Amino acid sequence: MTDQARRAELERSLGAVRERVSRACEAAGRDPAEVTLVAVTKFFPASDVDLLAELGVTDIGENRDQEVSAKLRDVARRQDLRVHFIGQLQSKKATSVVRYADVVQSVDRPKLVTSLESAAGSAGRVLDVLVQVNLDEARGRGGVAPQDAVELAGLVGGGEHLRLRGVMAVAPLGADPAPAFARLREVAGAVREVAPGATWISAGMSGDLEEAIAHGATHLRVGSAILGTRQPHR
Ligand SMILES: *Cc1c(COP(=O)(O)O)cnc(C)c1O
Repeated sequence: MTDQARRAELERSLGAVRERVSRACEAAGRDPAEVTLVAVTKFFPASDVDLLAELGVTDIGENRDQEVSAKLRDVARRQDLRVHFIGQLQSKKATSVVRYADVVQSVDRPKLVTSLESAAGSAGRVLDVLVQVNLDEARGRGGVAPQDAVELAGLVGGGEHLRLRGVMAVAPLGADPAPAFARLREVAGAVREVAPGATWISAGMSGDLEEAIAHGATHLRVGSAILGTRQPHR
């Protein structure tokens, strides 16, 4: 596909997603300006990231350190983008992630807090952090248990080089997302009681962004609805 055809395709799908977002905001009585769209570009090339930036995307999400650190070297419009790391993260990758990520959304254990704090300190920077909450008792692919989220958030908030922004979660696969997002909103409220500045709720993906908006999401992580079906190594 030519760059121009791909640009037209992305423009169409991005427009459709933005339309969904504004309609869901209207239904929920919310201002669309409260909702940040994070385009999840994992598995898609740097050229797509640049096209999205041209189309007004300000935030991208990636979930594999090796992939994103290589990809970002080829992104021309890097300075226009906020990069969110949204995947499971090994502590030993903290130094690498701190080099390019503006936000780490997937902080789910004390050891990772310690590693990121130390890596951000060495890099002389402050990193935005979300505590990832596990809403899927059966599976639990990443995330702290809801009842432990406030404690972990406190640990993040105690870091000198970490700025606690809020919470993140993925709704359980194949189930109604509404109760999960309602639970996340409760956890977000509990976190805000100890950290009033932690106002972000990252929830909602291609299939459930409307429900997430209805439950107060401030950040949506949308991949396939914008970029298409993921095919590894294209
Ligand atoms: C891949 C991914 C997304 C995007 O999912 P889509 O269904 O493609 O929108 C969102 N959040 C996380 C944590 C992901 O890994």
